[in-house]
Amino acid sequence: MTIGDSILVQLKEEIPEIEYKRYIKQLSFCTESSKTDYALFLAPNPLIASWVRTKYSEKIAHLFEVKTSVKPQVAIELKNKRPLKAQSKDSVTSTSPQHSAHQSLLNPAYTFDNYVVGTSNQFAFSAAQSVCEKPGEAYNPLYIYGGVGLGKTHLMQAVGNRLQTLGKSVIYSSVEQFVNDFTRHLRNQTMDRFKDKYRNCDVLMIDDIQFLSGKVQTQEEFFHTFETLRNENKQIILTSDKHPKQIAGLEDRLKSRFEWGLVADIQAPELETKIAIINKKCEINRVNITKDVIDYIATIIDNNAREIEGILSKLHAYAKLMNQEITLEFTKNVLKEHIKEQRENITIDDIVKFVCKELNVKPSEIRSKNRSKNIVYARRVSIYLARSITQNTMPQLAQYFGMKDHTTISHTMKKINELLKSDENFKLKIDELNNKISAGQTP
Ligand code: ADP
Ligand code: MG
Repeated sequence: MTIGDSILVQLKEEIPEIEYKRYIKQLSFCTESSKTDYALFLAPNPLIASWVRTKYSEKIAHLFEVKTSVKPQVAIELKNKRPLKAQSKDSVTSTSPQHSAHQSLLNPAYTFDNYVVGTSNQFAFSAAQSVCEKPGEAYNPLYIYGGVGLGKTHLMQAVGNRLQTLGKSVIYSSVEQFVNDFTRHLRNQTMDRFKDKYRNCDVLMIDDIQFLSGKVQTQEEFFHTFETLRNENKQIILTSDKHPKQIAGLEDRLKSRFEWGLVADIQAPELETKIAIINKKCEINRVNITKDVIDYIATIIDNNAREIEGILSKLHAYAKLMNQEITLEFTKNVLKEHIKEQRENITIDDIVKFVCKELNVKPSEIRSKNRSKNIVYARRVSIYLARSITQNTMPQLAQYFGMKDHTTISHTMKKINELLKSDENFKLKIDELNNKISAGQTP
């Protein structure tokens, strides 16, 4: 076995198995071109090459260093391309960001196929697809905004991946990277190279543009980049956690330009969408879990889909370690920490406040005699959760909710238990609230 191969085997121990199979296992070490201070691996396609380069070249270099005491420059090249010469300073495959200037660094898993569409993201999704059909024409810029983990980066990169396969040159960059590139080229008096990178692409995607806030000089530079690209009908895509108008410390001329194309928001996913996303992630990562486990995970996560992969890989790892099936019981045990058992400290007030926030009613209405449908619903849910989570007796609950006596409480409990048996969606909603409260998500 060559040293390169043994490094890859070692890497296997340190990364998720799925990643290993999908990316690392596809690499071959190129003995002819490698030297002590230069290690070349060949990848079968650009997607794998770019993924390994971004995510693992530093780690691979480190493993080499541990083994040989020399930290080599790690290069990932395409198999069918002739390897670049060792030490070639202009090699675009080097680990150093300086040399990877023209790599778009897209995550190959962020495709449209892997994206779950629900009412919360339908609009942004359609906009992204239109951009693929008519880049630079349909919506320019496309500005996608929404909370953390709602799939903005995924959607933007799906456009990037699609357009890249259509032969477009795509630059994907964080604001941080843009700022770093800018200051470095300014310092080195190589601004022509900076402009070459950011103004000569077909598609420029900048992630989390809100971080431009307060960066006056970079905003100025970005303004000119934007103008140049847009005048040439090159597609610009931006993401942010806020609407352009809401970004403080951003020049007005940028704010207005960000609205020139299309501003699309992504909302928090509904429960069904969360379930569908988990299903999708299971499929992609080849994790086999049952419906009850999937439903359970959907109810304990917040709206942030980013947690899902962590949870799945944790479950997968534990199940392998203990040689066990991933049952609901097992899942609850493994994720116990995730759901800190804070039940003892929860009061009826906490529960009512939480339910009100989730169901959009006022706490005062819950304790009133108001009989409108949504309030009755919220009241019942509150009573049920208060009864199952807190130690309060039925008379105590009756007093809190302003009822004559405890028979109303027991009547409500009976009603809810019937609903739980007959209505799957209702059960999911109750489970969700219950788990969120247990997970300490009270307001
Ligand atoms: P954001 O950029 O909005 O913070 P990301 O795009 O990084 O969120 O998404 C976080 C994780 O959740 C990623 O693994 C992404 O694939 C996944 N994700 C989010 N929304 C969806 C969706 N609608 N379908 C499939 N996966 C999603
Ligand atoms: Mg993001």
